[in-house]
Amino acid sequence: MLTPQEQADVRRSVENVQQVVGKQLDSNRNQSFAVTFVSTLQRGVDGVVQAAIDQGVRFDCKAGCSHCCSVRVEALEPEIFQIVRRIRTLPQADIERLTTRLKEYAASARGVSALDHRIECAFLKENLCSIYEVRPAVCRKAHSFDVEKCKSRSPEIPARLDIALQSEVLIKGTANGYRQSKLAASAHNLGLAVLIALTDATAESRWYRGEAVFGDFA
Ligand code: SF4
Repeated sequence: MLTPQEQADVRRSVENVQQVVGKQLDSNRNQSFAVTFVSTLQRGVDGVVQAAIDQGVRFDCKAGCSHCCSVRVEALEPEIFQIVRRIRTLPQADIERLTTRLKEYAASARGVSALDHRIECAFLKENLCSIYEVRPAVCRKAHSFDVEKCKSRSPEIPARLDIALQSEVLIKGTANGYRQSKLAASAHNLGLAVLIALTDATAESRWYRGEAVFGDFA
């Protein structure tokens, strides 16, 4: 539980991030920049996690461990378009395979609450993330000190509050900064939103023109 002073500090930090993000987006008004700029958020979250590792913090997470990849994962609009841009660089057969996986995911995930969500992410391949370089900020901040708790889907995964808080400041401040710059940015179900954006060639430009393209669908 945060003290009132800590809560005020968090609000101030979110506001600072928002101002920086909003200014950057306003002074670089182009669609491509609006999408790729979100990598700043992702590098920021990576930096938060890396700083803890550099201080000697050791997580129970390792490559090939993917228990957290069947919870509901959410991403902001620019993160979704960034992933779709990456998918479109793949060979056509891979795009078709991925689209099929996303449709299967969508068929099982629609209407499932975050609490009941136990569906493997469509991007998980042989227990590794197939979009690792462009995975959303929420995946980057996820960590655990007890893999047994992850396995049993315990509601309490032991983690560092400071990592969660600093990452949330970056995510919330970035989303607010996009909205300040009149670009929709809120949390959407990753698999559902990527499927929509991948199968609608107009989605990214409509988003850049100010439309909320995912609406209630993701
Ligand atoms: S995007 Fe990658 S890291 Fe995130 S849930 Fe999916 S497979 Fe796991």
